[in-house]
This record gives sequence, C-alpha cells and structure tokens, in this order.
Amino acid sequence: LDKIPTWREENGSNDKEEGKVLKSGRGINDKVSLYKGDITVLEVDAIVNAANPSLLGGGGVDGCIHKAAGSCLYDECHSLNGCDTGKAKITCGYDLPARYVIHTVGPVARGHVGPTEKNDLTSCYQNSLRLLTENNLSTVAFPCISTGIYGFPNDPAAEIALNTVKSWIEENPDKITRVIFCVFLETDFGIYKKKMSVIFQDN
Ligand code: ADP
Repeated sequence: LDKIPTWREENGSNDKEEGKVLKSGRGINDKVSLYKGDITVLEVDAIVNAANPSLLGGGGVDGCIHKAAGSCLYDECHSLNGCDTGKAKITCGYDLPARYVIHTVGPVARGHVGPTEKNDLTSCYQNSLRLLTENNLSTVAFPCISTGIYGFPNDPAAEIALNTVKSWIEENPDKITRVIFCVFLETDFGIYKKKMSVIFQDN
C-alpha cells in the first residue's frame, strides 16, 4: 500500500509548497489512488469483489479472488444466502493479503445504461463503503464493478465509481483513509486517469 502513490503524489504535487493541505491528511487527493493490476495482491483492509447473486464464485475478478483466497472463502460465502443487486456482504480474506472481502453484486447492464442500472451501480459503491466503515476498516480497493461480464459501459461506470466515492469521502471525512481504484484493462486505466484529474483535481 505504501508503494502505491496517492493521487496527489502521482501528479507531482506532493511538495512542501502545498504542504498545508497535505499535512492535514484530509485532502481528498491524499486518499485516492489509481492502480492497474491484479486486485488480489493488494494489502488493504478490504478488497471489493464484483460478485454474482449466488456469491459462490464465477469468472473475472470474482474467480481470481476465490482462487487467491482459497476454499474457506467459498465456505463462508456459502453460508451467506446470496446477495441482491446493489447490496454488499463482507467475509474474511483468508489467504489474501487483504483482511476482508466485500462482495457486491453489480447490475447486469448488457450495454444499456438506464436509471436502474445507474442506481444499482451507485448502491454497490455506497453499500461497500458503508460496510467498510461499519466494520471500522479504513482502506479499500475497488475493481471496475459490472464492466466485465455484466456489460456496463466503461466510461459511465467510471464516472459513477469516482463521483460516488468522492461524495462518500466528503460526507464521511474521518473514516476512510485510502481508496484504490484497481483497474485491470488499459482502456479503464485511460478513462480513470482522465476523469480523476478532473474529479480529484487539487483544491
Ligand atoms: P462483472 O461481472 O461485475 O462485470 P467482471 O469480473 O467480469 O465483473 O469484470 C469487472 C472488472 O474486473 C473488469 O474490468 C475486469 O477486467 C476486471 N478484472 C478481472 N480480473 C481482475 C483482477 N484479478 N483484478 C482486478 N480486476 C480484475
């Protein structure tokens, strides 16, 4: 986690001139990061899983997380009776470096972005952050929920992810210390980088 720069550091504004904002540790730029790669290697309090309603594993990031966490994760998920779209449930992280996994179920969009899909995706981020803080956890990594097999278009999905997390941090400033947006694809990396420089611009 220490090696992943915050958004402020990544953009070269981590100098003494701007130390006032930095020292307080409250600036939103000090709390968000963009990371490209496998979410299962991240040492955070919780990684978020883009699960399906059964919570029993599947393809994509879900499959990677179950593989890396080991069969105890499957056993705990099995006891949870599934999860509705937009909701979230928490389990231990088992063999993962992350202590917990927050499983959330994104909307099946198949390319269509209507009010329901938008609301459900927003709820995924909100309910995951709520579970995080309810469990007194403060660092988290999100994958690009719903943008794989579930077919939510990447650009509006990123817009929702970034704006929802930003609002949440602003409304709960003392609780969350680090949110890592973990992208896997080059196209998402480009989309997030561009949007983050606008949404999390220095203030
Ligand atoms: P969904 O079913 O919600 O669409 P997917 O797992 O199919 O979920 O895709 C969500 C995102 O996770 C996609 O951008 C996909 O490329 C990405 N992804 C796949 N494997 C990993 C991984 N190991 N770490 C992080 N992201 C991953």
